[in-house]
Amino acid sequence: MSYVSDVMELVERRNPAEPEFHQAVQEVLNSLAPVVERRTEYKEARILERFVEPERVIIFRVPWRDDAGRVQVNRGFRVQFSSALGPYKGGLRFHPTVNLGILKFLAFEQILKNSLTTLPLGAGKGGSDFDPKGKSDNEVMRFCQSFMTALCGHIGPNVDVPAGDIGAGDREIGYLFGQYKRLRGEFSGVLTGKGLGWGGSVMRPEATGYGCVYFAENMLITRGGSFEGKVCTVSGSGNVAQYVVEKVTQLGGKCVSLSDSNGTVYDPSGIDEEKLAFVMELKNMRRGRIREYAEKYHDAEYRESERPWDIKCDCAFPCATQNEISGADATLLVGNGCTLVSEGANMPTEPAGVNVFLHNKILYGPGKAANAGGVAVSGLEMAQNSQRTVWTSEEVDGRLRDIMRAIHEAAHKAAEEYGNPGNLVMGANVAGFIRVADAMLDQGLV
Ligand code: NDP
Repeated sequence: MSYVSDVMELVERRNPAEPEFHQAVQEVLNSLAPVVERRTEYKEARILERFVEPERVIIFRVPWRDDAGRVQVNRGFRVQFSSALGPYKGGLRFHPTVNLGILKFLAFEQILKNSLTTLPLGAGKGGSDFDPKGKSDNEVMRFCQSFMTALCGHIGPNVDVPAGDIGAGDREIGYLFGQYKRLRGEFSGVLTGKGLGWGGSVMRPEATGYGCVYFAENMLITRGGSFEGKVCTVSGSGNVAQYVVEKVTQLGGKCVSLSDSNGTVYDPSGIDEEKLAFVMELKNMRRGRIREYAEKYHDAEYRESERPWDIKCDCAFPCATQNEISGADATLLVGNGCTLVSEGANMPTEPAGVNVFLHNKILYGPGKAANAGGVAVSGLEMAQNSQRTVWTSEEVDGRLRDIMRAIHEAAHKAAEEYGNPGNLVMGANVAGFIRVADAMLDQGLV
């Protein structure tokens, strides 16, 4: 058996019933075989065995009281996967599907993503099976305060710096920060995605979506293309999806879909600035369902329980959640003429779908590279907090563009160097891994 298949077997044995974690590790290990063959010192130091084992996992009870006075109990997690490159860094997800396996997959992906940014960021991920949908602001606050009471001893600006993710937006970050400050008696950069008036960075809300489009633009440039006139499908309608639509539109493309967990809206006339403002108000303020879009704009149709992948498009941006593009969806996309997929979400494409994209040699940006803009600007938020300074939008946007260009270049180059030109899945995995593995070698057996 080869070194990588031994390690995969170990992962499956040691982490039973965690299919998403197995999926993420398998994809990365597939890419790393030629690297560990060339760099024999990695095997001697058992770098892969250490790389797939989280440094620490914290699981805690989160009791809180709802508006009717009833006691509710959720489960909270923080997976501190790797501190090879810096303090643990990664978001908190509040969604009923959250479990340990999903957070381990997300934290594992985060190691490579954070490495690709070239910023000093380790990797973690956390969250809870709490569902903010349908809860009052007061209920969300009580939950966040209880969650942070349990977590606050394990995080800190030089230890572990969480951010938002699905279900954890501005409101939740505010409540979490407030409770951390009260319990620890300090005002520090312990979370990113903070409000602009109290330590947040400009462009952090936009960063993941904009970065995903900048990454796609870099891919287009390799084939002499641009967004001008391109029809784009987008899934999700949260933070990432909203800013993908905004940036694609600014660059001359037309986005024709959005979705949520209930269904998809298809608007062939395009989601322009005014319609996007409606979506932002609907989703971020009123916390309503995407179906209301089709009730307001009659050009659009609502497709209950459907995803947007059967809609004819040039480019697709999955921005909702993991495993939302199956092999059959990928075949449909490519068959309908889609030539670019840039992943705003983490691992949105099932392995069979990834194979379809690679086999057809379309431009395919895997999430850990294409959506790294969010954590990159979180890294810039940490830098600004440490310096007690605030940069302008132009400064942050310029740095974000540069980082996305550099990530694309690093992945492109690594894919070529390891014999798989154009395969950015392999390129991103290899480029991200080598920086982490070398740091682990330098830091000894810890
Ligand atoms: P939001 O909570 O703002 O939005 C999530 C969107 O996806 C909502 O429209 C939600 O619909 C939909 N969604 C969530 N779960 C499911 C599901 N199981 N099935 C169908 N639709 C679903 O989250 P973000 O926009 O922040 O995150 C979206 C993706 O991007 C995630 O994969 C996240 O990990 C990734 N990401 C986010 C970053 C960030 O900076 N925010 C950074 C890098 C990656 P509904 O409202 O019905 O739940």
